[in-house]
Amino acid sequence: MTDIPIIKVYVSLGSNIGDTEDHLNQAVARLEKYEGIEPEKWSETYQTEPQGLKDQPWFTNQVVRFDVDPELWSAEGFLSTLQAVEGQMDRVRDVKNGPRTIDLDIILFGDRVIDSGSYLTVPHPRAQERAFVLLPLADIEPELAFPDGTTISDALQKIDYRTEGKKIYQD
Ligand code: ADP
Ligand code: MG
Repeated sequence: MTDIPIIKVYVSLGSNIGDTEDHLNQAVARLEKYEGIEPEKWSETYQTEPQGLKDQPWFTNQVVRFDVDPELWSAEGFLSTLQAVEGQMDRVRDVKNGPRTIDLDIILFGDRVIDSGSYLTVPHPRAQERAFVLLPLADIEPELAFPDGTTISDALQKIDYRTEGKKIYQD
């Protein structure tokens, strides 16, 4: 028997327009329909303070681990599918860090390190600075280390944030 060659892909999901929890669920349901993409682990959902542009509703954030078949998916192909799902869900790409029905970011694609310029950077370049990524990631993989060796707790110690239950405050 050969090992099943699966890649663990961690996706950060965010929404701050309309029924935000439903948008996260809908995005996972849409991704699950593709061959070779299986959701495996779900974090809790968190309510998070908007960063950058303050004058907008709080976000609902979650991290989901998908098991992805590397024979069917490259990281670039996976990103274009995330963007297709964003498009199907009426995501309008306008204001940087602004309100959105759904934002889907690749945090980790296995242990791959990819710098394809602005189209795709993996690990996500801001993941280690964002409590709304790190805390949900810790729900599903508390011992996870980034390819550079940084653990989730290392990263959390370096940033300024506070929580109140499932609320995350970070400027
Ligand atoms: P945000 O930075 O708020 O997530 P967008 O979702 O509009 O903004 O993404 C901006 C660009 O980031 C996309 O066009 C995409 O090509 C690029 N990008 C680079 N690396 C990644 C990644 N790891 N995950 C998602 N998008 C990425
Ligand atoms: Mg994005």
